[in-house]
Amino acid sequence: NQKVVLITGCSSGIGLALAARIAKDEKKRFMVYATMRNLGKGEALVEAAGRTLGRTLEIKQLDVCDEVSIKACVDSLPERRVDILISNAGMGLIGPIECQSIDEMKTVMDTNFFGLVRLLKEILPDMKRRKKGHIVVISSVMGIQGILFNDVYAASKFAVEGFCESLAVQALRFNLNISLIEPGPVITEFERKVYEEGMKTDLSKADKVTADMFTNIYLKNYSQIFDTLGQTPEDIAEHTCKIITMDDPPFRHQTNTLYTPMTTLKYADPNGDLPIDTFYKMVFEHDKVFNTSLNFLKLLRWRSRKSFTLEKTEKDKN
Ligand code: NAD
Repeated sequence: NQKVVLITGCSSGIGLALAARIAKDEKKRFMVYATMRNLGKGEALVEAAGRTLGRTLEIKQLDVCDEVSIKACVDSLPERRVDILISNAGMGLIGPIECQSIDEMKTVMDTNFFGLVRLLKEILPDMKRRKKGHIVVISSVMGIQGILFNDVYAASKFAVEGFCESLAVQALRFNLNISLIEPGPVITEFERKVYEEGMKTDLSKADKVTADMFTNIYLKNYSQIFDTLGQTPEDIAEHTCKIITMDDPPFRHQTNTLYTPMTTLKYADPNGDLPIDTFYKMVFEHDKVFNTSLNFLKLLRWRSRKSFTLEKTEKDKN
């Protein structure tokens, strides 16, 4: 009676932590197909998987930008069955849009948004037929709120959220669940790759004010934001694991309580100005306010460490 879990992007970060965590489930409730674009990068997962490899975990090739590889992977599963799909593969992009090519932007949309669409085109019809399944998508807080110099990345995650919100109504008709996991900053390869690419940005196409804003404000504070707010991939895996074991999983789940005050601003003001003004003040008015906010967030972090729970799970227990 094991549930079949298919996860994308498992060679590093959240995908790797998720695959290992779910495969190591004490009650052996899951059979995990951990997929990655390049099987040559499977070493870290093999190590993390330990004795679960060949038992509750198998590694398979899947590139979310390649329909043929998705079909081949799903066809290779017993009865093509996927009970829980975790769409995790993704990439970031930071910098002023003047300095980014349309091709670079398309790659982000193709991976983060169309990657999910391709997976669902292959897997959703079977789930509908079986009237059983849970689609879990690793989105981001940037799926509900834009962040300075993350324009295209945020757009790709907004696309994911709009797509899922629309599908969720149809899914209910087939007894299927969709859940969006919305982490804040997570300390993974993603952070390093995005930062390194950001550092390499050719800023000659941007005006001086924009270039300065990117280099001296955004990049300068980048690692501090991850140091202060960052969760580990294992944290995200733990949250996701709880979501997939719930009887009535939520549509949205934010993993970082430190972030909730920011996202709440969005819902507090129908005009949409409140979060934008607040971000503006945090960033530009000025280091003092910024540091104060960071200190405030540090305090919250300390508090939230003590109260790591999922409200709904707590309720379920009672
Ligand atoms: P990561 O870079 O370690 O992992 C992303 C994985 O996706 C990599 O293993 C990469 O090889 C894989 N991938 C990229 N393109 C692919 C493709 N075409 N086919 C298959 N796999 C592909 O970073 P991560 O932080 O673990 O990111 C995982 C997910 O979490 C992403 O969707 C990301 O947007 C989301 N996320 C990350 C953060 C963060 O701060 N790190 C925050 C919120 C959400």
